[in-house]
Amino acid sequence: MSSKKPPLPSLPDEIFLIDSHCHLDMDEYRQDLHQVLDSAAQHGVKGVVTIGIDLESSLAAVLIARRHKSVRATVGFHPHDAEKANPAALAELIAVVEDNAEEVVGWGEIGLDYVKKYAHPEVQRQAFRRQLQIAKELGIPVIIHDREAHDDCLRIISEEGPFEGGGIMHCFSGDLDFARRAIDHNFHISIPGIVTYKNADEMREVAAAVPIERLLVETDGPFLSPVPYRGQRNQPLYTLYTAARIAELRETDIADLARRTTENCQLLFNYEFHR
Ligand SMILES: [Zn+2]
Repeated sequence: MSSKKPPLPSLPDEIFLIDSHCHLDMDEYRQDLHQVLDSAAQHGVKGVVTIGIDLESSLAAVLIARRHKSVRATVGFHPHDAEKANPAALAELIAVVEDNAEEVVGWGEIGLDYVKKYAHPEVQRQAFRRQLQIAKELGIPVIIHDREAHDDCLRIISEEGPFEGGGIMHCFSGDLDFARRAIDHNFHISIPGIVTYKNADEMREVAAAVPIERLLVETDGPFLSPVPYRGQRNQPLYTLYTAARIAELRETDIADLARRTTENCQLLFNYEFHR
């Protein structure tokens, strides 16, 4: 591999980006989380939403948010962990939200994963449904993980909705028609670094055409690093590469794209990430 990387895309001082989906509690960041957040902030990625996947990681996410004003947390049971979403564990998570209203801005990630099926699809659907109901009662946005389960996801969302708190189709993987249907249900479309990959034409089409007021950017770190760091640990800093590529697709500049997606993110989560 060549060590020559293209320069980091840069932002004007007054404009910043938010990484709408990262897993800062994961082991990959244990050694250098402060440095990861500092270098992101220095280059204009001044907000991160860190996402829980089960009880432990949700608690860890809340602790990170407590220590960093630029980080907010979400809590929930990932479809891979749907078996753990029993009534007692869910009650515990609800209490976490109520006790940490300042830190917790959403519920997720929740949803359906028909690729890996670590949990039985029926168990996934039950956990998904229950958590949609909880988020609705709490009035907070939901963060959806959907892998090859588009129709079931939207069917359950429309049966349990409407979601006035809104939501995010994270690491969006459908076509433009599916994006439009999700938007009709008050969802945002969050685009990951995959948009920089060679074989991602469908995602590029979505990223180019989604209405700007529904668009977000994310890393899904530590996974899915954009080019030129594909295959290495992802981190909020690299949101810059993803945003630059999307800006190019939309024939605008990264400053404009950052300003708009940041506005979307702050409105959705009702939080100012950088003051
Ligand atoms: Zn995730």
